[in-house]
Amino acid sequence: KNDPLEQWDRENFLHPSTHLADFARGNVAQRIVTGGEGSHIVDRNGNRFLDGFAGLYCVNVGYGRQEIAEAIAAQARELSYYHAYVGHGTEASVTLAKMIMDRAPDHMSKVYFGLGGSDANETNVKLVWYMNNILGRPEKKKIISRKRGYHGSGLMTGSLTGLPMWHKHFDLPLPQVLHTEAPYYYQRPREAMTEREFTAYLVSELEQMIEREGAETIAAFWAEPVLGTGGIIMPPEGYWPAIQEVLEKHDILLVADEVVTGFGRLGTMFGSEHYGMKPDLMTIAKGLTSAYAPLSGSIVSEKVWKVLEEAADLTGALGHGWTYSAHPIGAAAGVANLRLIDELDLVGNAGRVGAYLKTRMTEALGDYPNVGEVRGEGMLCAVELTADRSTRAAPDPADKVTAKVVGHMMQNGVIARAMPHAEVVGFAPPFCLTEAEADELVEKTAAAVRAVFGG
Ligand code: PLP
Repeated sequence: KNDPLEQWDRENFLHPSTHLADFARGNVAQRIVTGGEGSHIVDRNGNRFLDGFAGLYCVNVGYGRQEIAEAIAAQARELSYYHAYVGHGTEASVTLAKMIMDRAPDHMSKVYFGLGGSDANETNVKLVWYMNNILGRPEKKKIISRKRGYHGSGLMTGSLTGLPMWHKHFDLPLPQVLHTEAPYYYQRPREAMTEREFTAYLVSELEQMIEREGAETIAAFWAEPVLGTGGIIMPPEGYWPAIQEVLEKHDILLVADEVVTGFGRLGTMFGSEHYGMKPDLMTIAKGLTSAYAPLSGSIVSEKVWKVLEEAADLTGALGHGWTYSAHPIGAAAGVANLRLIDELDLVGNAGRVGAYLKTRMTEALGDYPNVGEVRGEGMLCAVELTADRSTRAAPDPADKVTAKVVGHMMQNGVIARAMPHAEVVGFAPPFCLTEAEADELVEKTAAAVRAVFGG
C-alpha cells in the first residue's frame, strides 16, 4: 500500500470488470505487471508467474518475442500512422490482409480492420444489417446469440453477450437481440440425456425461437465455436452441423466469433475449421497480433462480398470507419506474429500440448469428489467445480470456491482464471507452453483444489 504507483492506481484508474469502490478503497489486490517472457510474467514486486491464461487468452505466441517488438519499432520509425480511408493502405496493412485471407477458409473473401473484438463484432452487425437493407428485406434484422456467449462490451456487442452482468443496469440487451440456450452439456436439463439428445434439444429450442419470431425477421446467428468467457464450453456432439442445417433452411447468416479460437487455439487455424463450420462472417482479434498491439478484423465471405459490391454501386461509399482501422503498428505486429506462428509451428504445438494438458488434468482431478468435469479442446481447458459430483450441484456461491482455488494457485506462482460466470477454473495458455509447464499447471491446480476442499 505504500508503493506510490499503487496509490496513483487507486486514485486515478477505473479498471474494467472490477469492483470500483473496493478497488479505490484498497480492498482489491493490485498487481502492476512489469515484464514477461515465454509463458511467464513478472510483477513490480519481483514475483514471477506461469500465465495459464495468456493474458486474456490473447498472448498466443508468448511474452517477450523480440521479432514482433522489432517489427513494431521499425514500423513506428518508418511510418507510425496513416489512415485506411478512401483506398489508402500501408505496406503492413495490405500484407496482413493477404496473410489473413490466405489462412481463412476458402469461401471467405475480404477483411475489414478494427481495433478489438468488440468493434469487429459491431462492424459485422452493421454489415449484416446493411446487407439486408440492400437486399430489400429491411425487416430481417434480429440477431440470435446464445446465453453465456461473450461478444464484447459495446451497446450492441454487450447485447449479443448472453451474460446478465453485461446487461443489468445498462438497459441491455437492445430489442433486436435474442438469446437461445447455451450448449452446456454439463448443465443439461435431464441427467439421462446423451450428448446427441442434448444437441437435438438445443436445435429444437432454436427452431421454436425462429418459428415464434418468424424467419423473415432474423438476420444472423452469432456464436463462438467454443463458448469462452461463459465457461469454456465445447459444443456437444453433432452440434455445429445440426445448427447450420437449421440456419441454412431459414436463410439466416452464421457469424463465427473467432476472437478466442482464431489463429490456432484449438490446434487448427480457426475454430470453424475444427468443427466443420461454414460461417458467412467471422470476427478475429486477440491472436491476430498475440496482443502485441490492438488489432481486429471482420471477415466476410464471398456471398456477403457480392452484396457489398452491389451495394456500393447502388449507395456509394460505406458509411462506416474508425480512425485506427488497419493501424500500421498493429498491422506490423500482426504480420510478424503470423510469421512466427508458422515458423515455430505454434498451431501444432497448441494441439499437442493442449491435448497433453487435458490428459494430465483429467488424470490428476478427473475423479476428485469436488470436480464435476475436466474438459478441453486444444489450448483451452476447464475444471468444473461442484459441491456434489453425483448430482453435479454447483458449489454455494457464497463459498467462492473457484476464486479460492485460483487464489491458492496464484500464491504458488501460476495463473488460471476464475471464470466469472461459472464455477470453472479456466486455462488458455500461450501456444508455446511446454509439457513441463503443463505439468506445473496441473500439479498446482490439484494442490489448490485439495487445499480448498480438503482431502
Ligand atoms: N468476442 C469474444 C469471443 C471474446 O472472448 C472477446 C473478449 O474476450 C470479445 C469478442 C471482445 O473483444 P475485446 O475485448 O477485444 O473488445
